[in-house]
Amino acid sequence: MAVIGGGITGLSAAHRLLELQDQLPRPVEITLFESGERLGGVMGTLEIDGYRVETGADSFITDKPWAVDLVERLGLADRLISTDARFRRSLVLFRGQPTPVPEGFMLLAPAKIGPVLKSPLLSVWGKLRLGCEYFLPRRNADEDESLSHFVRRRLGREVLERIVQPLVGGIYTSDPEKLSLRATMPRFLEMEANHRSLIRASRAAAAEKRSDAASGSGARYGLFATLKLGISELIDALTASVARCRIRTQTRVARIVAAQASQTAKLEMEAAGTETFDAVIAALPAFRVADLVSSTSPQLAAELNSIEYASSAVVVTGHQLADISHPLDAFGLVIPAVENRKILAVSFTSRKFPDRAPEGCAQLRTFVGGAMQPELLELDDQDLLALVRRELSEVLGVGGAPQFSRITRYERAMPQYHVGHLQRVARIEAAAAEIPTLEVAGNAYHGVGIPDCVHSGEQAAERVIARLCEA
Ligand SMILES: Cc1cc2nc3c(=O)[nH]c(=O)nc-3n(C[C@H](O)[C@H](O)[C@H](O)COP(=O)(O)OP(=O)(O)OC[C@H]3O[C@@H](n4cnc5c(N)ncnc54)[C@H](O)[C@@H]3O)c2cc1C
Repeated sequence: MAVIGGGITGLSAAHRLLELQDQLPRPVEITLFESGERLGGVMGTLEIDGYRVETGADSFITDKPWAVDLVERLGLADRLISTDARFRRSLVLFRGQPTPVPEGFMLLAPAKIGPVLKSPLLSVWGKLRLGCEYFLPRRNADEDESLSHFVRRRLGREVLERIVQPLVGGIYTSDPEKLSLRATMPRFLEMEANHRSLIRASRAAAAEKRSDAASGSGARYGLFATLKLGISELIDALTASVARCRIRTQTRVARIVAAQASQTAKLEMEAAGTETFDAVIAALPAFRVADLVSSTSPQLAAELNSIEYASSAVVVTGHQLADISHPLDAFGLVIPAVENRKILAVSFTSRKFPDRAPEGCAQLRTFVGGAMQPELLELDDQDLLALVRRELSEVLGVGGAPQFSRITRYERAMPQYHVGHLQRVARIEAAAAEIPTLEVAGNAYHGVGIPDCVHSGEQAAERVIARLCEA
């Protein structure tokens, strides 16, 4: 069997195949193909001048269990660390000033009304409109809805522009007018369906959490976790655990030839050569899978190509704390589109996790580009750094020259879950099911975060083992 793609999805798939292979009647060889030199895909940790720098993801959410489960199965549970409780809050830029997101505001919904009433982020009218949410009826329509439509409908335009758009934009780098709520944050639809009002639902959830905490049955980890030495610890452990596979780095697969009735699939390599497998897991961005299957299934390729992707750049800089006038008393700052800035968000990495910067220094990760400002990715590194330094100086009072800087560009790395995404994914899965030897997995389908990718890769591996056991 073969796994194509050595990012977190492909590594999780290969690891799960190894875990389950004993169920098969005879031993199998698992080959992992990766076009790059190293495994890990968009994830990786670097040591630069005493700073521990994440080039891609810096942590993962723990209320989706799959990444934590994997970490535990890899024997790394004691390496997990949570975010620093002292700085556990977010800032949003408001008329040029970093301003706290009201306490208890969880992405779309306020669990506490007091902090919202005191917050300068909303006008009196905006607060009144938000308060009306408590009394609004639930919607009785079933069609997919954009994030913007939902938030305007329930909470009002100000909450959308001033709080939700920047918070959600920081995660999905997306245009909220196009983002499907059902595909990205279905729990808010469930809150409306079950409690009628998001405010009522958030308050009920907060009360339940308090009683869990009182009874000692709270979550084992904070909402976000990473590993002591960074995300690379997970990648390194996975790489070690899949060492029993045949690992083919610097090998780009160019085509998958897999007939519907056939029990085998042929992989053609870009640098010549073909290999035949009884199962193939394509753990790649959707448009890459489309390239590989375009001759086998033009219909599948067309559906895969219809998932749009956004590009972004992460500019990491290290600074003396004395050079920054803002106290950095939060995990980061998000910037609403209405502020007309170029940067999307700044993560105060050294406030989130320990040992990310030398004593007396701060590490900042600034995000640029995304679906709303793709043209900024055309700037060369020098101009991009100059832009980031200018904006960091204006919004956070960051002066002096950074001790180091590192720019990583992510071309078409973030799939956009537009309205209709779940139907599109259902069509993709139906078309892929026509090719029994092929499974698709990755961040394009049921979630972009690390836990989703782990789950997607593991589920693909489980389907392969189940099919081969039946054969
Ligand atoms: C800047 C950034 C920050 C993020 N931050 C977070 C975060 O903090 N928390 C979180 O949970 N998620 C975060 N994410 C999302 C998450 O990191 C990604 O969704 C996830 O890492 C994607 O993993 P993957 O294995 O599906 O894809 P990839 O990492 O893209 O891996 C695919 C691999 O396939 C290889 N490949 C491509 N084509 C071929 C071919 N033809 N043949 C062989 N190999 C091929 C590529 O070289 C690559 O290594 C972030 C993403 C980005 C871009």
